[in-house]
Amino acid sequence: MSLFGLGRNQRTFRPKKSAPSGSKGAQLRKHIDATLGSGNLREAVKLPTGEDLNEWLAVNTVDFFNQVNLLYGTLTEFCTNENCPTMTAGPKYEYRWADGEKIKKPIEVSAPRYVELLMDWIEGQLDNESIFPQKLGAPFPPNFKDVVKTIFKRLFRVYAHIYHSHFQKIVSLKEEAHLNTCFKHFILFTCEFVLIDRKELAPLQELIESIIVPY
Ligand SMILES: [Zn+2]
Repeated sequence: MSLFGLGRNQRTFRPKKSAPSGSKGAQLRKHIDATLGSGNLREAVKLPTGEDLNEWLAVNTVDFFNQVNLLYGTLTEFCTNENCPTMTAGPKYEYRWADGEKIKKPIEVSAPRYVELLMDWIEGQLDNESIFPQKLGAPFPPNFKDVVKTIFKRLFRVYAHIYHSHFQKIVSLKEEAHLNTCFKHFILFTCEFVLIDRKELAPLQELIESIIVPY
């Protein structure tokens, strides 16, 4: 299987991030690979017995970031300022960028710029050791789950844009099955740990309902 079409398009959006929390992260990664390998996504998202919830959220957050990065990376030549002058998810939803820190008042930017700002912001969180500690046993901040929730809310918007604006291109790149599997895994994880508000999921509600029964 060609990995996410990387063979066709070597230009990745940005380098892959490695798992946090050193050897512990690596161990949890192995668990994810093993359960994903079994093909049971519903089982794969569950917190393994005896493991720390924050560690589990951290490792998976890095994985989901990397997946979205690779998926979007195959679309960078199609998702341009000209083709996608605003960050939309279908005709009814348009996103404006604000990070709540540097940019407080939402600004209208093109979809590629929005995704760039969004992925930069997430990368900044992942690289911040006071939020995503690299050392085994280093404490997570009290608001860790809130940060994870914001990351998931934002990653969802990239999926929403890809499905609404670039799905035909995904089909022509033969990445449809891979996109659907990544999204299904992402949504099952989101549901398991209640990471995204229901109203945020509205742009892909039908697709989500076909994946999950009740949310
Ligand atoms: Zn686009």
